[in-house]
Amino acid sequence: MGHERRRKHWGWGFADEQPGREELRAAAAGLADHLGFGEREPEPPVPLEAVELPPPRLDAPFAQDAWSRAAHAQGRSYLDVVRGLRGRFPHPPDAVAYPGSEDELRAVLDWCGERDVAVVPVGGGTSVVGGIDAIPGPGHAGVVAVNLRGLDRVLEVDPVSRAARIQAGTTGPALERQLGEHGLTLRFYPQSFELSTLGGWIATRAGGHFASGPTHIDDLVESVRALTALGDAWQSRRLPGSGAGPSPDRMLLGSEGTLALITEAWVRVRPRPEQREAATVRFPTFAAGAEAVRELLQAGLRPANCRLVDAAEAALTLAGDGSAHLLMLGFEDPVPQLATALGLCARHGGEGRPRASSEWREAFLRAPYLRDTFAAMGVLSETFETAITWERLPAFVEEVKGAAAAALGRGTVTCRLTHAYPDGAAPYFTVLAPVRRGDEEQRWSAVKAAASEAVLAAGGTITHHHAVGRDHRPYYDRQRPEPFAAALRAAKAALDPRALLNPGVLFDPR
Ligand SMILES: Cc1cc2nc3c(=O)[nH]c(=O)nc-3n(C[C@H](O)[C@H](O)[C@H](O)COP(=O)(O)OP(=O)(O)OC[C@H]3O[C@@H](n4cnc5c(N)ncnc54)[C@H](O)[C@@H]3O)c2cc1C
Repeated sequence: MGHERRRKHWGWGFADEQPGREELRAAAAGLADHLGFGEREPEPPVPLEAVELPPPRLDAPFAQDAWSRAAHAQGRSYLDVVRGLRGRFPHPPDAVAYPGSEDELRAVLDWCGERDVAVVPVGGGTSVVGGIDAIPGPGHAGVVAVNLRGLDRVLEVDPVSRAARIQAGTTGPALERQLGEHGLTLRFYPQSFELSTLGGWIATRAGGHFASGPTHIDDLVESVRALTALGDAWQSRRLPGSGAGPSPDRMLLGSEGTLALITEAWVRVRPRPEQREAATVRFPTFAAGAEAVRELLQAGLRPANCRLVDAAEAALTLAGDGSAHLLMLGFEDPVPQLATALGLCARHGGEGRPRASSEWREAFLRAPYLRDTFAAMGVLSETFETAITWERLPAFVEEVKGAAAAALGRGTVTCRLTHAYPDGAAPYFTVLAPVRRGDEEQRWSAVKAAASEAVLAAGGTITHHHAVGRDHRPYYDRQRPEPFAAALRAAKAALDPRALLNPGVLFDPR
């Protein structure tokens, strides 16, 4: 934990940058006026000193202070934020290890292995699917959370092949700062960029800001290094591509800490873009906008930003006045594609206007802070995302939105397309509703279940980039082919015979 700036033990951001009481009140009042619901008097968070944690089950040579245990007890989904605000941390780890090197990590794994203690790898702790809750598996003596953020360096840069070797615990800003010294960038901006880590992105197959082209971290990974629960090194070769059997990197991508602990990766980097151009295009209907996006992708254009936001969401986020559906379009070198894209949009009734390209990104990266205020003012705010092929998209969006809205009652369910492909797109839904204090869990669970059932029934995926964790388990169990589940279990048995790594996440070992 040594050199790191201390994070808030719940919610978003750092302990030393939290808004004061009056500032929070003003924010809540402004938001309540804008939404037409939500309490103007925000609920004060329970301070760390007043949080009661169950006593540790282990006497461990790792950190056991209240901040360490609370801050690593859960991720940052809406319900995690609500619980954290109220000082509820139902599954804190018994101890938190902060290895600063691969050797120190191996020693932690040995210690846990000798005592049948479960190990939960933690990167930024920004999971929104219950990916880091410290719940032991059957027969485990307790849980040690392993905070990997001590592994935070860019170790090597290869300017010729444009790749960099980066330690897994490096957060977005730290990674960009170090690559910037070489005039390079990864250009991978998930909304959680500020606090999440490269290892977490790989373990969850995160999606970045590129709306097309390299959408997932998968596309940027050249090779991966990891340690298994037994302490064995798993290191793949650096290759631009390879047809030598199933890919070892692909096996770790999306493994969510269940197969090995990722310690570093070679990733594909690029020079900073020299040119950027952006426009906002207004469409009379969401369907017309979606048709334009499909044509754009199928014409071979690869916009960096290509987010189609429905009119209701545009009004809520103040991106528009609610009279039109908006396509946020942006290109990074080569920008001349923007003119072609706007021409295509016009054929679907889309009217384009130039926009500063940084505007959208800044609002995007500030959004996580808002969620803490929503939780404190009795506003249910959460998102869920999926993907579907174009021919099913219009009906799919209506069905999922309808199912979620019916389960929600009062409030709004809005949609945007965050990522687009030649054969389909990723609809992303935002739920905002007034909620009585104490009812959050039951309200949100009803919406989530209705939406997830609708997604599965209509042939979508339970997640496009938020991962499976615990929350999506019941749906992922039905989505994946059964022989594949058997193969995962067999891999787990070989790599982690005592099933110590992240029990309960992604799949059951037996
Ligand atoms: C406000 C907000 C916005 C978000 N926006 C996005 C977004 O735009 N795109 C997106 O894809 N996701 C987003 N997320 C979800 C989350 O940020 C991602 O899943 C992210 O990849 C998690 O990274 P992390 O470093 O925080 O990992 P953690 O939350 O610490 O861990 C996530 C999972 O990966 C495992 N893990 C972490 N590090 C390692 C490692 N080194 N080796 C093995 N396993 C490991 C953990 O055990 C856990 O199962 C958002 C979340 C929040 C709260």
